Amino acid sequence: MIQSFYDSVLGQIDDTADKISLESGIHNMIRKPERELTVTIPIEKDNGEIETFTGYRVQHSSARGPCKGGIRYHPDTNIDEVKALATLMSLKCAVANVPFGGAKGGVTCNPSELSKKELQRITKRYAAMILPIIGPRADIPAPDINTNAETMGWFMDAVSMHEGSTVLDIVTGKPIDLGGSLGRNEATGRGVMLNTIELLKKQKIDPKKITCAIQGFGNVGSIAGQLLGKKGCKICAISDVSTGLYNIDGLDTSDILSYLNSKERTPLLKDYRLKKNDEFISNKDLLESDVDVLIPSALENQIHIENADKIKAKIIAEGANGPVSKKADEILAEKEIQIIPDILANSGGVVVSYFEWVQGIQSFFWDINEVNENLKKIMLKSFADVWHTSKKERITLREAAYRIAIKKIARAVELRGIFP
Ligand code: NAD
Repeated sequence: MIQSFYDSVLGQIDDTADKISLESGIHNMIRKPERELTVTIPIEKDNGEIETFTGYRVQHSSARGPCKGGIRYHPDTNIDEVKALATLMSLKCAVANVPFGGAKGGVTCNPSELSKKELQRITKRYAAMILPIIGPRADIPAPDINTNAETMGWFMDAVSMHEGSTVLDIVTGKPIDLGGSLGRNEATGRGVMLNTIELLKKQKIDPKKITCAIQGFGNVGSIAGQLLGKKGCKICAISDVSTGLYNIDGLDTSDILSYLNSKERTPLLKDYRLKKNDEFISNKDLLESDVDVLIPSALENQIHIENADKIKAKIIAEGANGPVSKKADEILAEKEIQIIPDILANSGGVVVSYFEWVQGIQSFFWDINEVNENLKKIMLKSFADVWHTSKKERITLREAAYRIAIKKIARAVELRGIFP
């Protein structure tokens, strides 16, 4: 049976706690979120009918600072998924050493069946419903799957209307004209690229000789693909929810991106007009394609016990959160496939969210070079820390990242002392 996403995350925490002989009381604290909120979101649809949605906000840990984490709109979103994602956020912030804990939010809905106005109403009502537990010093949301800068602008407005004044720093990932940071939109994909290039350097592999497959050509996957393409990697396969595209000689990603950006609502890849030697492939075939680097950048649990032994890539860079189940992780480790774990690979987004929060507090905004230079500095330092621990302890990069993160969170808990 395929392991649930949350079980995979808890299993990895339990293994790490065991290996580092973590005190059992602190281990139990780290296994459980601090706070979970489920809300009901009624909205008036464009046809005048009332429809009710369910939303969640989970704060996993505030031990190291205010909670931080994105908001996902997806038909499969449920409380366990949000708990798993919130837990990963605490670990990710600790690996990157940004002064945040972890949180996540989500609304169970299918954005492809909702108009922009309906999505705006969902966002504003959701913001109002979770307002009692969020705040610029308590919990700061950001974008995730099917949410973006525009969604953050709506969210910020709803909170501001309740507070009676504009509260820019309630969210990150905002539009630039509303206090957003330059480089935030590209930050997660840029971080995936930086981590991948660092691993290739360690393995003494020239990026120009590398072929890549990217599952999920959305914010994270498309930016990672574009930037790796600029480093000379050949992007041979990409996909979205509708289909995959494959070209053994490399896809024309610029043309695909201008197609995807051509309409207000992102069109689907299944309607893309194929170029010479392009072919459609399934998402399953994409994951199992014969490439050097696989970058899963869609949903969790895409590589699991039933397909792990069919993976041919030698490197997996986890753009998505939790794309490899724990059992699959063990199979891939036996096959000596190197995985750059989510809590390292995709941490660029929360790092630049941290920069956005800092810039907002100071009301002083950086230029793009400053953002990208500081991002690179933090990404290279986190990669080096994880790499060093993995070599020293003879463990995988994921085990090393978990050890670093859990030790930092445990240390914060000890230093603060248990309240009361
Ligand atoms: P997005 O909505 O911009 O893109 C998601 C992409 O995945 C789209 O192309 C979509 O069509 C595709 N997709 C959805 N379901 C799929 C399926 N079943 N099979 C194949 N493709 C599918 O979302 P995003 O912001 O790029 O997030 C992608 C992943 O990266 C998520 O796991 C998210 O948690 C993670 N992540 C995002 C950020 C960020 O800053 N946006 C930061 C860290 C991690």
